[in-house]
Amino acid sequence: MAKQRFGQHFLINQAVARREVTYAQITPDDVVLEIGPGKGALTQLLAQHASSVLAIEIDAHLIAALQPTLPSNVTLIPGDAVTIDFSSLPRFTKVVSNLPFQISSPITFKLLSTSFSRAVLIYQKDFAERLVAHPGSKQYSRLTVGVAYKAHCRILEEVPRTCFSPVPKVDCCIVELILRDTPLFVVHNEAFFFRLTAELFSHRRKKIRSVLKGYVSSYDQLPYLDQRVEQLTPQQIGELCNLIAPSP
Ligand code: SAM
Repeated sequence: MAKQRFGQHFLINQAVARREVTYAQITPDDVVLEIGPGKGALTQLLAQHASSVLAIEIDAHLIAALQPTLPSNVTLIPGDAVTIDFSSLPRFTKVVSNLPFQISSPITFKLLSTSFSRAVLIYQKDFAERLVAHPGSKQYSRLTVGVAYKAHCRILEEVPRTCFSPVPKVDCCIVELILRDTPLFVVHNEAFFFRLTAELFSHRRKKIRSVLKGYVSSYDQLPYLDQRVEQLTPQQIGELCNLIAPSP
């Protein structure tokens, strides 16, 4: 029985799994991180192409069924991918995963602070659209800003919901995430930048002047005061942040 709280929609279309592996350009040198191997549809294929696979799975029943089927180059790590410290894992070079929907956001932010050369991830379509949205659009969000700052991101293809069992309520997308060598713009205090971005987007329709009320004693020299949060580009948010950030 699939458990809803774990976002269990298992991939039943092998062609999609094969394309994910191709998109990830996996070589025999790669160590691949997979979050939520489930019944192993993707894991087995990854193991055929990579040097090794680290697969984090939260569901003890799935782990018990999966473990005996796995080749020796797969390490199954029981636990919650949201709380496991990725820096405690062996160094991985790629991430390939059909992400459980309910942890898409924390896992994406977590991946942004690690190091890998390429991630190929399946997200719900509306979430994928938020990742690559343009300023001023309905989908533009703190996620868009955080991802643009750290990574190149693009939607590779749509995956119909019928490729999964049980069938989810929405379609999905395969997304590629490649970390930038250096962030898109300079931010002096990164923790503050992520905090401020979250605060700004919790008032996305408000003008910058009103959202910054609690942050500054004077508006002198600050740009964009009469623009709405959702209109600012990631670079403009970074610029604003640098003008008001406390030293890290
Ligand atoms: N990779 C499999 C596939 O493509 O068929 C399963 C994908 S299913 C969408 C998500 C998987 O993530 C499930 O196996 C679920 O149990 C697991 N999962 C859910 N929450 C998790 C978490 N916090 N940490 C690790 N695994 C999790």
